[in-house]
Amino acid sequence: MNNEKVKCLIIGSGPAGYTAAIYAARAGLKPVLYQGMEPGGQLMLTTEVENFPGYPQGIMGPEMMQDLMEQAARFETDIRSGFATSVDFSGDVHKVTVDEKHTIEAESVIISTGASAKWLGLDSEKRLRDAGGGVSSCAVCDGFFHKGKDVIVVGAGDTAAEDASYLANICNKVYILVRRDEMRASKIMQARIKSKKNIEILWNTVTEEVIGDQVVEAARIKNKETGEVREIPISGFFVAIGHHPNTGIFKEYIDMDAQGYIQTIKGSSRTNVEGVFACGDVQDSTYRQAVTAAGSGCMAALDAERYLAEKEAMAVEN
Ligand code: NDP
Repeated sequence: MNNEKVKCLIIGSGPAGYTAAIYAARAGLKPVLYQGMEPGGQLMLTTEVENFPGYPQGIMGPEMMQDLMEQAARFETDIRSGFATSVDFSGDVHKVTVDEKHTIEAESVIISTGASAKWLGLDSEKRLRDAGGGVSSCAVCDGFFHKGKDVIVVGAGDTAAEDASYLANICNKVYILVRRDEMRASKIMQARIKSKKNIEILWNTVTEEVIGDQVVEAARIKNKETGEVREIPISGFFVAIGHHPNTGIFKEYIDMDAQGYIQTIKGSSRTNVEGVFACGDVQDSTYRQAVTAAGSGCMAALDAERYLAEKEAMAVEN
């Protein structure tokens, strides 16, 4: 059977992928979008989104993703379930295999496979996260729900420090759980959190359980040095132990940084492979917001459109 041929293939269905689809479809590129392992991306794990412009009353994360999907579908994006299992970007036409069986030849590819938050792996953490009960990986998204209350941030990198700092402005008290006796966060970030009166750093401390039936009520923590176990009453449990970009299948062809984030050419969504573009969290370890992802999705579609137009013009000339 011949491979399917498309002008523009979008891999991933977060705000970046759907925004790219809206722009590409309106530009007549007839995009095909594969939703990936987690249709809708990280926002499907969020409760209320209050910081996406255009929703004065806020909107639930899954509802916003449904809206974005419908908007992409309205302009005839071909939205399909399935995930890319391998790619071959060695030639002029890019090959992407979906679900290990269906190979597509795409003139342009937009990668918007996102990043996934890392979790501790505790059953109680998963249960209360799935229930929307106050376990979160996004302080900016969910901090507001804990206004005036006590929360925990787990982690010792810049994200944990930044999240703790952000939460300290909203919450009554923020505990940072650091598993070693030092933090990895930059000196300046450490100085910032140490200067806040309502942040307490608990060194050598790990979480044994997040306690609560429907919502977080406390956490049972353990000091690894002394062996002391205690419960801290909290309403929010924020996990900030890093993200991993979903870039494994592209490694052979696409330039990435040490963490595996795709490197785009400054001021664009272009990658080192012609005709392959990247947008959203897969190429952004700094901002990681729905609105910045959507903005970069727009850039990727415009870059793909220009790339295809130039290619077509060159083919006419020759
Ligand atoms: P990092 O990988 O830098 O840090 C993750 C932290 O989580 C580490 O301190 C690690 O501890 C801890 N950790 C990992 N697993 C566990 C676990 N199971 N239990 C408890 N703790 C755990 O991730 P970040 O998201 O913080 O940062 C990612 C990148 O983004 C970094 O390069 C960072 O500098 C950058 N960044 C920059 C910002 C800025 O400049 N404003 C803001 C946010 C991020 P350990 O140290 O013991 O390994």
